[in-house]
Amino acid sequence: MTTVLECIDAGTRYLEKRGVEDARRNMQMLVAHRLQCTRMQLYLRFDEPLDESTLAPLREDLKKRGERIPLQHILGIVSFHQHDFKTDARALIPRPETEELVELLIKKITHAPQRVLDLACGSGVIGLSLAAQWPDAEVNLADVSADALALAQENAAMLGLDRVSFIESDLFSKLHGPFDLIVTNLPYVPERDRSTLSPEVLHDPALALFSGEDGLDLIRRFAREVGAFLAPGGMIAMEIGNDQGDETAALLSQHGLTEVTVEKDISGIARFPLAKSL
Ligand code: GLN
Repeated sequence: MTTVLECIDAGTRYLEKRGVEDARRNMQMLVAHRLQCTRMQLYLRFDEPLDESTLAPLREDLKKRGERIPLQHILGIVSFHQHDFKTDARALIPRPETEELVELLIKKITHAPQRVLDLACGSGVIGLSLAAQWPDAEVNLADVSADALALAQENAAMLGLDRVSFIESDLFSKLHGPFDLIVTNLPYVPERDRSTLSPEVLHDPALALFSGEDGLDLIRRFAREVGAFLAPGGMIAMEIGNDQGDETAALLSQHGLTEVTVEKDISGIARFPLAKSL
């Protein structure tokens, strides 16, 4: 007979051996998922025996995690700013930095903008969180990937958001401005960093991660094109990679945007460029 605690201990050792970071938390999440409880509730259930109907699927999950399949793909769900979202290999797994970007916008923007664009929306976490926050805004989600848009649409349905538009578009090519707020988490990982990424990150679609040798290819295109899609007084907000702050700010200024700043993330890294139209 295996108890919850014994199962967590054994699974933790298994994951540690396979190089999984935060092995215990990962194992707790897998067990909690199968027991349909929270990680905290597990602490009250340590002595509970687990029967084969729980252990068998758990072994499958554990094997996958040991093969370095991301925890989020196994759980199928991530919690992002106040809501749960579906996540799978169709789009980038939502990251905590991006949650910070949403929080920053909600704090800074006290009057809901009229027309909002989440460009390169992926699973839709940014645009849908904003749509939930600003019920009167017209929110548009665009992505070059039909797969990502399908996932974003499933997420909109799950959140009961039916006033959101979805557009398949390579950056701005199929879009019609002007927008009062354009927010984007473009792919920004430098191609040259590919070999340094963890096996988990490589489960994200390459299309959602990489953007040329220095990671700035799409940011350059965005900076060039965004001005024409921004309403007077409109604002842009971006997420960028480590060490891309100065160059991104320079690109935005060079293309006529004003009040360019780069806000830091919780780790003190210049992460979120903000700017306004002229
Ligand atoms: N933050 C992600 C990572 O480091 C990259 C996301 C992106 O390119 N927008 O893997």
